[in-house]
Amino acid sequence: MKQKIICTACGTQYQQPIETGSVCPICIDERQAVPENGQSWTNLQKLSNDYSVIVKKVNDNLYEFKMAPAFAIGQRALLVTTPNGNILWDCIALINEPTIEFLKSKGGVKAIALSHPHYYTTMNEWVEIFDCPIYIHQKDEQWIFNKGGQINLWDGTEKELWDSIRLINIGGHFPGSSILHIPFLSNEGTILCGDTFYISPSLKHAAIMYSYPNRIPLPLQEVQRIKKQIRNIRFDTIHGFYDYQNIYSGAKQLIQDSLGKYV
Ligand SMILES: [Zn+2]
Ligand SMILES: [Zn+2]
Repeated sequence: MKQKIICTACGTQYQQPIETGSVCPICIDERQAVPENGQSWTNLQKLSNDYSVIVKKVNDNLYEFKMAPAFAIGQRALLVTTPNGNILWDCIALINEPTIEFLKSKGGVKAIALSHPHYYTTMNEWVEIFDCPIYIHQKDEQWIFNKGGQINLWDGTEKELWDSIRLINIGGHFPGSSILHIPFLSNEGTILCGDTFYISPSLKHAAIMYSYPNRIPLPLQEVQRIKKQIRNIRFDTIHGFYDYQNIYSGAKQLIQDSLGKYV
């Protein structure tokens, strides 16, 4: 059987073989970039041979998964464990036996929820193992190139999963860009944000942009709308796209102050 192909620049997986030399639709979108030396492709089999997955405990109920060496945009996935089932937040391209064993040892995965298209990657392979739904906001449907039977498109501003864990559509970077809010992971609540908010290396600022690699800003009214929406979400902790992007206290104030600088 022919392996589905994976873009080495962004990690997106495609059902149908793309002609050699052709470009990845996610990379040519103005939110990403085609590498200077051109597009190249791999597949899950090759990734399993050349890469491993590093699992790190972030706190008692939160685990991080990252590929080593770094692959594509350097994405990390996060697992939230709860007594009523675990949520995998975002996907990395490689799913291998040790990772599957680890996830099973933590009680498996009850749902996969995705922040935005830069994390769709091999989501259908992940979901096949755990036979659970994948939640993607309906506004980003056009970016699902690898359609699978378990994909649940949700709409509106919020979707509760269970135990008051909510998906919240924020928009901005992508119309469907969403965050996961978990009220009980920290004193005042935790959000997992992908790159809906881009936490700076100083951990003292967060950017919000249409494209981070191409430095394309959002319209001012979008920033203002998001700043207003955040006011109603209770949180003190935030975990972002990259492994260093963790803020354990005062996260809401930080986001609000950061968005205030755009005005
Ligand atoms: Zn790509
Ligand atoms: Zn992104």
